This record gives sequence, structure tokens and C-alpha cells, in this order.
Amino acid sequence: MATKLIRAPKIIIIGAGVAGIAAAVTFKKAGFDDFVILEKGADVGGVWFWNRYPGLTCDVPSQLYQFGFAPKPDWSRVWATGPEIQRYHAEVVDKFGLREHVRLNSEVTDAVFDGRGWVVTVADGTELTADFVIAATGVLHHPFTPDLPGLDSFEGSVVHTARWDDSIGTAGKRIAVVGSGSTGVQVVSALQPDAVKLTQFARTPQWVLWAPMGAGQSPVLAKLLAASPELHGRVYAVSLWASGILADVALRPTWRRRALQRLAKLSLRAQVRNKSLREALTPDYQPLCKRQVISGTYYQAIQADNAELVTDKITEVTPTGIRTADGRDHDIDVIVFATGFHPHNYMRPMNLRGRDGLTIDEAWAKGPRAYRMTAIPGFPNLFTVLGPNSPTGSISLQYSAELTARYITQWLHRYAAGEVDTVEVTEQATARFNDAVAEAMGPTVWNTGCNSWYFTDQNTIDLWPFDRKTTTAMLTEPDDRDFLIGSPARCGAVAESTTV
Ligand code: NAP
Repeated sequence: MATKLIRAPKIIIIGAGVAGIAAAVTFKKAGFDDFVILEKGADVGGVWFWNRYPGLTCDVPSQLYQFGFAPKPDWSRVWATGPEIQRYHAEVVDKFGLREHVRLNSEVTDAVFDGRGWVVTVADGTELTADFVIAATGVLHHPFTPDLPGLDSFEGSVVHTARWDDSIGTAGKRIAVVGSGSTGVQVVSALQPDAVKLTQFARTPQWVLWAPMGAGQSPVLAKLLAASPELHGRVYAVSLWASGILADVALRPTWRRRALQRLAKLSLRAQVRNKSLREALTPDYQPLCKRQVISGTYYQAIQADNAELVTDKITEVTPTGIRTADGRDHDIDVIVFATGFHPHNYMRPMNLRGRDGLTIDEAWAKGPRAYRMTAIPGFPNLFTVLGPNSPTGSISLQYSAELTARYITQWLHRYAAGEVDTVEVTEQATARFNDAVAEAMGPTVWNTGCNSWYFTDQNTIDLWPFDRKTTTAMLTEPDDRDFLIGSPARCGAVAESTTV
């Protein structure tokens, strides 16, 4: 018998990127449409709105890097470009009627739990209340720029890839790219052809796995998928299954991992014939340990006549360029920082206060931690989507966001039915979960001795070490024993959990 719903939960979703859109569509489909999406940026799309650097491409195939509820048959490329992915997110927002829920240019400064619900303040001073807050604030959001001595004195242009400025103009210039991660590799490939000189400053070389990133998606396939949603569903399911192989490679030290690692080494050997350059490009750690870089063009670009790889440490920036530890001065017009992000800054710098005034900084004094990526002890009726440990590197982000949103929806149903007023995960359940995460991290490739952005200041790995089946099991049915449940019958009092 269907449960009778007696009230509609008021929901605030913070962020209109992949996680926020997944949450909003999932809630709406479940009949909960009393929500507002507060978005700091001037448009939806999250990371795809903020990142607009030349060469931006998603190295996950687009038939996988899409929402399960919004399959797109006609991606123009197998690995779509940033602008096409951004357009897709805007289209999904329109298609599912989210536009009227979204408030752009609305950065949340405060979110405070008042004992029954949340009071959320936006930068312009607007105050909103909600029964539930969904923090879909993303992971790679705050750009990191190293504090290089002399940077202020530089007379040329400086830009971070995550805040690209088209007015700079890079054609015909002497360009420095600092960084050799996924972004650095893409931006080097894109800027090298039109540069007078491109110098890449690479502190640590990365393994770069070859893939034909520019390959178009077949128009015939697009027609077939458009004509048959059933076929499209199957293709998506197969893509999810295939991504499980990559998760397995990351999680377990099997022959499959070794085979992929050999392929990464072969990618370098086959494409870079010059011995000294090859040595400079050879990392001293296992392939896949850092976030795997994929490119079909990088090794060609860095071997071009107008390109140079510099592995000497940057000692200072001068008014006219960059000086390295060997005493060499590199004349530069534009410095491009592809130096990544503050990746563990979830929800910061928001003043987030939970039960009894607990701040998120206090709760996370020992680093970000959540129960199953989504619930934080001390923060009732607040859930994260793609929160701590969200599965970069092992599971489709969209799959995980949708799964988490459906899990949260079950609490919304119980609230709507009048069964619960507040729900808060227990400290014990969270500790148990984090212990399981730490144990499962042991055999992962991320733990094989490299320095990557996956590590927190506390030396934990902020990733997801479980396969999709385990993930799905964890986020299918909430276990009441893991939660403190405040029920209306107890006048909002918090009932003690019975688990240990
Ligand atoms: P990243 O992987 O964190 O790389 C940052 C780079 O900057 C590294 O090479 C790092 O060197 C270097 N660096 C940092 N501080 C430096 C300093 N003081 N001096 C010299 N070099 C310095 O950042 P990212 O390339 O922006 O990528 C971040 C993540 O975004 C990726 O791992 C991926 O998850 C995602 N991404 C995905 C795609 C995609 O196609 N799906 C594309 C771009 C980005 P060290 O290695 O020595 O620290």
C-alpha cells in the first residue's frame, strides 16, 4: 500500500553542476519539486561552466559521461569537448524543467541548522529556509595557483586554466604552461600549434596513455540510438559495465592492471624516440597511480620544434619570464597555470553549522569524511551528492550522483509521510565506514607510492575504493541503525541509534 504523504519537504540544492542536476531531476521524478537550486556561477554546468580552457575535452567517453536519465544519441565525438558537454548540461536543465528552480549568481555564504531545519544565506543577503539541504558543491572547484616568488612582478599575462580568459590571446606568443596533469597535457596540445614558443614546466612527469581523443562519433550510431531508446539503454548499460573493468584495474593488482600499465609505458616508448626527452618524460611511479592522463596529441606537441619540456624547478618569476634552478631565464609572454585545485575543499568557504552550532571545520578537523559519500555526523537533514570519497577514478560520476540522490529521496519520502522530522548519521556508522574505506584503499593503485591530489593533508586517499555492485548495495536502502532519527511523535527529539 502506498504511503500517504502529508507534507512536502522544502529542499535547497547548492550547486547546479553534475551533482546538483542529478539530484534535482531525481527529486522531481519522485514527486518532490519544492526545491531551489542555488548556483554561484552565471550559468549551470558546474565544472563545465567554470572550465573553458583551449583543448578542454572529457577523457571519459561521452556515451558514459552522461546522465542515465538523459542519454544523448548524437555526441559529435567519442570524447566530447568541454563546450559540447556544457551545452548538454544546459539542455538537460531545460528539458527537465529545472530552469525555474535555478538561481544563478547566488553563492551560499551560510547554512545553519536551527534544530528543525536549515537557514541558508546567499551572498546578496537573501535568507531562505529549508527542511533539507543538498550540498552538490563539487570537488575540483577552487583553483590552486602556486605562490611563486616574483609572480607579482611579471609583466606579461597570467591565467589559471580553470578561470580561462579569452582576452589574453595566446597565438604568436611565448607561452609557459606550468603543470603536467590532465589539464596541462590538454592545454599544451591545444596551444602549441599557434605559439611562437611553448615551454612546459613539469615538476613531475606523468604517464600519458594514448587514445584517439579527436575521433568523431559515428552519425549512423547516433541515428540508431535516437531511433531506439531501448538500444541506447543497452549501450549505456554496457558502457557502465565496461567502466567496471577500469575500476577493477584501479582497485586490484591483477594482470589487467599490469596490462594497462604496460600500454601506458608503450605509449611513451612508441611516440617519443629521443632518448633524453623520453627519460625526462618517464615517471618514477606506476602508471595509474596519479589520475591517468589520456591524450592522442601530447607527445607530438611536446616534440614539436617550437616546444620545450623543462623539468628543472621554477625558482622565481621575473618581469620577463621564468627562472629555473639551473639558473636559466626563460622569456615568456603568457604564464598558464595548469596547477590543479584545492581538491578537498568541499563546501568551503561556506559558514556551515550543524547541530548545536558545530562548524564543518570542527567536524572535519581531521579531514573531510562522510558516510557513504553523503551524510555527515552532526549535520541533520544535510546530504552531500558527490561529497567526500566521491568516486573519481573508479565509477561513473553521474551513476554515483543519481544513486546517491535516489538514496536521499527515500528520506524525503519518510519526511513527507510524517515519519521523520530529522535524520542524522551516527558517528559510529561513519567511523565504521571510513575504516572500511581505509582498508579497501590498501591494494588500490592510488596507494602505490606517488604524490597525487587524491591525498588529503591527513594522508588519507579521498577516493572511492569499492566496485559498482558494492556501491549500489550501500546506497540502495538506508539502514535505520546507522542514523539518529528525530520523529514527530517525539516532538523533534532525536532518538538514539541502537547500533554500535
Ligand atoms: P593536477 O592533476 O592536480 O595537476 C597539477 C599539476 O600542476 C601537476 O603536474 C603538479 O605537479 C603541478 N604543480 C602544482 N604545483 C606546482 C608548483 N608549485 N610548481 C610546479 N608544478 C606544480 O591538476 P589538473 O591537471 O587540473 O587535473 C585535475 C583533475 O581534473 C584531473 O586529475 C582529473 O580528475 C580532472 N580533469 C579531467 C579531465 C578530463 O578530461 N576528464 C581534464 C582535466 C582535468 P606535481 O605532479 O609534481 O604535483
